[in-house]
Amino acid sequence: MKNFLLSLSDWIYRKKCFICSNSEENERLCSKCFNKIEFLPLQYNRIILDKRVYCACEYDNVIKQLIRNVKYHNQKELAVYQAKVMYSYWKNLNKNDNYIVVPVPLSKERLKKRKYNQVEIVATEFCKLSGYTINTELIKRIKNTKAQYKLTRKERLQNLKDAFRVNPQNYNNEPILLIDDVCTTGATLESIIKEFAKHGITNITCFTTATPIK
Ligand SMILES: [Zn+2]
Repeated sequence: MKNFLLSLSDWIYRKKCFICSNSEENERLCSKCFNKIEFLPLQYNRIILDKRVYCACEYDNVIKQLIRNVKYHNQKELAVYQAKVMYSYWKNLNKNDNYIVVPVPLSKERLKKRKYNQVEIVATEFCKLSGYTINTELIKRIKNTKAQYKLTRKERLQNLKDAFRVNPQNYNNEPILLIDDVCTTGATLESIIKEFAKHGITNITCFTTATPIK
């Protein structure tokens, strides 16, 4: 009886795929839906201030839903799948460097509102898969910037001016992997790269989960 009740509760509380609602695998993103994800070519997607920016996927379909759920709908448990998507792409690039992973930070005000930095959670899970080390102290967001999505690239850069501050203590010149969820105009990455440059930190590669195809 006890076993029966246990398996009954297992069955009731089984995780369902957030895309297709299938519960057989007990996963929030089942392998069938994961395998539908199309990856971008294994090459950098663009260059920002002479730094390479890699993007794993197009910002569309499953990936768009995944990112939006992690970011806006408090579905933190989906972050592990976003990290898995990123790692599936990254491991095929055969990079030998041992990176320090720096997630794009949120301002204190935004953090208070959202309760968590989704990029930091994804980056932490990505480090578990890649064996890289995360560093959330190296750069802070000191200005609470307006939401960017309605702004042009120029307005975004103005909005982000002096938004970040680098704390270079404990940094030993290791290569940095700067991680964000979506790269749209690249203004956020650009302003972080500029802030790093002020401290002579230039060994930076950028990596985002997705990018909208222009
Ligand atoms: Zn599914």
